[in-house]
Amino acid sequence: MSDNKKPEKIVGIRGMNDILPADAPLWELFENTVQSVLKSYGFQQIRTPIVEPTALFSRGLGEVTDIVEKEMYSFVDSMNGDMLTLRPESTAGVVRSVLEHNLTYDGPKRLWYAGPMFRHERPQRGRYRQFHQVGAEAVGFSGPDIDAELILLCQRLWDDLGLTGIRLELNSIGNADERNRHRADLVAWFEQHRELLDADATRRLHTNPLRILDTKNPLMQEMVNAAPRLVDYLDAESLAHFEGVQRILRHNNIVFTINPRLVRGMDYYNRTVFEWVTDQLGSQGTVCGGGRYDPLVEMFGGKPTPACGFAIGVERVLELMKVEGEQPVASQCDVYVVHQGDTAQLQSSVVAERLRDAGLDVVLHCASAGAGASFKAQMKRADASGAAYAVILGDDEVNAGTVTVKSLRGAVGAGQQASVPFSAVAEYLVDQIVGEHEHDHDHGSHVHYKP
Ligand code: ATP
Ligand code: MG
Repeated sequence: MSDNKKPEKIVGIRGMNDILPADAPLWELFENTVQSVLKSYGFQQIRTPIVEPTALFSRGLGEVTDIVEKEMYSFVDSMNGDMLTLRPESTAGVVRSVLEHNLTYDGPKRLWYAGPMFRHERPQRGRYRQFHQVGAEAVGFSGPDIDAELILLCQRLWDDLGLTGIRLELNSIGNADERNRHRADLVAWFEQHRELLDADATRRLHTNPLRILDTKNPLMQEMVNAAPRLVDYLDAESLAHFEGVQRILRHNNIVFTINPRLVRGMDYYNRTVFEWVTDQLGSQGTVCGGGRYDPLVEMFGGKPTPACGFAIGVERVLELMKVEGEQPVASQCDVYVVHQGDTAQLQSSVVAERLRDAGLDVVLHCASAGAGASFKAQMKRADASGAAYAVILGDDEVNAGTVTVKSLRGAVGAGQQASVPFSAVAEYLVDQIVGEHEHDHDHGSHVHYKP
């Protein structure tokens, strides 16, 4: 064995993905769109820690849910022995924070969050161990109006993203009393059909029988379809709430189907539950799940406080965007600045700063390992950057107090060249780029207008 053996490469954790620069524009487009939609409904951002006490989730989500049973990344803090968990979702953390800071002291709050979540699942398309959610939590609202508002907000987001293949499924899972009565009858029904239950269902029979309704086992479908339906157990108040949500949705031309088998994974949900589903992503077709969770605040030791929210699976929405949605700009900058010679290089940094002052995105050619800095090599870089224009400085330009502006693509046509006085180049390029932008109404410009 040789002494100078190359060290082994360390690779990332399975199911936890790098988001590479090539995908960054898509993420940005999604993030910008969702933020502006949330803002347009008056939602305010909240940021909670990625690590929380394990008890927050075991208590908040329920001991027998999929997440708590088998998906949590939990560990002991070796410094002090605390049991900690990487958040598998954010509702519990947001509610903890709302209580801790008494955020609803002056009335209900519309909150949103975004960030990574962690679940130890089998990685596959649309299912990762680190994934991202954007979610909204409306805390302190009791009526069907906010449930409907959250759904309208999602619909606006899909519209703004150019996504048409997402449909809404809606259900009411009633309150605890209604569910208990239903549950008793349901368990009795499953017991009558014990011979049809698979191992999973048998295990869940007395812990989480509602989840049996979620089974994908074809041998159980018929029996499950004929099982007692929760909607038949709803009281007048729950039915009125459910009807209230539907009335607002219909009034706003939101298309939905009622799926009586729709339940949510967590224990804290009640009444309204909904999912946005697509057929274009294979079996991981749910892009957003939400619903009402009136009992949660009390479960965490707070005053009874009704609430409703949703969480969007960002990776799944991005995959849909790649198929049918808005496509982002791929270019890195508006202008790429190339230079030859010492004086030109000095001057080029000043030009680049002036262009940035004017609101343009500018990449200044910098020395790199191995690669030549020849004019040709630099122009190749300029082209690869996706810039609409190259600004060129050499001895001739320095002596004349000008720069050469070369069009690389776009309406003007590639290869068009102009000599522009040094002092006028910023104004010239802003005019060119904004003009072009107005001309083709493309998403092609990076120009941010300065006040
Ligand atoms: P599923 O039935 O697909 O496991 P879930 O009910 O566990 O979903 P929620 O806890 O409701 O999911 O999370 C909301 C959304 O987050 C899901 O609809 C999905 O889009 C996304 N999501 C959940 N788990 C993952 C994961 N492991 N990887 C990627 N996205 C996920
Ligand atoms: Mg899950």
